[in-house]
Amino acid sequence: MRLILLGPPGAGKGTQAQILVKKLNIPQLSTGDMLRAAVKAETEIGKKAKAVMDAGELVSDAIVNAIVAERIDQPDCAAGFILDGYPRTLVQADAVEAMLAERGLALDAVIELVVDDRALVGRIAKRADEARASGQPVRKDDNPEVFEERLREYYKKTAPLTGYYYAKGLLQYVDGMASIDEVTRQIENILDKR
Ligand code: AMP
Repeated sequence: MRLILLGPPGAGKGTQAQILVKKLNIPQLSTGDMLRAAVKAETEIGKKAKAVMDAGELVSDAIVNAIVAERIDQPDCAAGFILDGYPRTLVQADAVEAMLAERGLALDAVIELVVDDRALVGRIAKRADEARASGQPVRKDDNPEVFEERLREYYKKTAPLTGYYYAKGLLQYVDGMASIDEVTRQIENILDKR
């Protein structure tokens, strides 16, 4: 199963991906998590990505495409994976399609978590509060100003992917404003019908 979760920052892609990892027994490939790990480890990629991420902008397509291309060749991706936060541009969408085609593979589904933007700022603030309460580091880009920029980037560069995948007959929607369990149920419904 090769699945893409689409939706703006704070839509719940990461939460659902983590639940699906357990149910489907395939890994979550979050480019955000991979980039944060690179920043922490101060790798060359991390050094290039840090300022861009802190500003809420998108890291270059070349960097993220290379990270994903390497990751999907790992043995744990053999049975599939859940892409969370990737692709985020049309260039990345073309790249993932080419990567999969080269390996004789294809996407099974693209699921958009449809949310009300006005709720997102609140969700991000909650995520920052929860991190603080549990003693975890708070993401630098989980603050209202940077979040606004992340949302702008989403609408400029990522939202066109819904049309791209709709045209390919791959796009499905779930109600991202529903409870976590209900969103999972809707995703499972879609996957069961395939
Ligand atoms: P996320 O954890 O998915 O919200 O990603 C955090 C930040 O990492 C984003 O705001 C971007 O700066 C960067 N990032 C993550 N995934 C991508 C991607 N597919 N393309 C470009 N930048 C990305």
